[in-house]
Amino acid sequence: MADGTQRVAIVTGAGRGIGAAIAERLGADGMAVACLDINPATARETADRLAGQGLTTEAFAADVSDEDAVERVVAEVVERLGTPTVLVNNAGVLRDNLLFKMSGDDWDTVMQVHLRGAFLMTRAAQRHMTAAAYGRIVNLSSTSALGNRGQANYSAAKAGLQGFTKTVAHELGRFGVTCNAVAPGFIVTEMTRATAARIGQTFEEFSAARVAMIPVRRPGLPEDVADAVSFFCSPRAGFVSGQVLYVAGGPRT
Ligand code: NAP
Repeated sequence: MADGTQRVAIVTGAGRGIGAAIAERLGADGMAVACLDINPATARETADRLAGQGLTTEAFAADVSDEDAVERVVAEVVERLGTPTVLVNNAGVLRDNLLFKMSGDDWDTVMQVHLRGAFLMTRAAQRHMTAAAYGRIVNLSSTSALGNRGQANYSAAKAGLQGFTKTVAHELGRFGVTCNAVAPGFIVTEMTRATAARIGQTFEEFSAARVAMIPVRRPGLPEDVADAVSFFCSPRAGFVSGQVLYVAGGPRT
């Protein structure tokens, strides 16, 4: 349980990759962190790692696209850690394919997790934020929001999250709640490893091709994204809302 002065943050998809790095960074920033993932084992691994660093944390399991599960898990966070006033909608999946081969299920799955998931989590968490007259919401968008071959579903969802972010910023600003989006470019995680494997490249080949197009000439790391999220989640970012910050080693990749 947080000690009452500590902010409580929920990070979805915290079991690995960018979500795990965000959980660790918000913990280091002094927040009590609810590590939420669809996979209870990986949520537990992240929470155990944070606890090993002396941070206040608990693991939670829920599918963010399941309305009942979301309501239940946010209530559990309140009970086990305290009132959540920070939410990072990071959980995500890929179902890449060229449009003519993309199934209806591929489309729906991506919309469900990214868009419906962010909507359900935000709706459940904002009740606590508006009551506390303080809140920080960060949504994970992507450079793919600008269009990317093979990602009609994912780029539509990530562009949709930018519209969702701006609307939540409009609606909740008067309650002391900000909402911003971080849009990463190429970041080294299991997600990008899976993309390399799907198109038949080694990760080294895949990474080298992407790095050649990135102005700072290196791949992004989960910690690069976590640092940007950390700023938006901090009390000092209270006059920054409805923004999209590209974290891509350049204006875009
Ligand atoms: P990742 O390694 O695939 O991790 C995503 C995490 O989300 C996994 O732990 C996954 O659980 C969990 N998850 C999936 N569906 C869920 C659901 N319905 N409910 C709760 N948790 C769920 O992905 P990542 O690369 O860290 O990406 C994190 C976010 O950044 C995503 O929104 C992604 O779209 C975005 N992003 C990533 C990149 C990049 O280059 N990596 C670039 C731009 C944006 P399982 O382990 O069980 O699948």
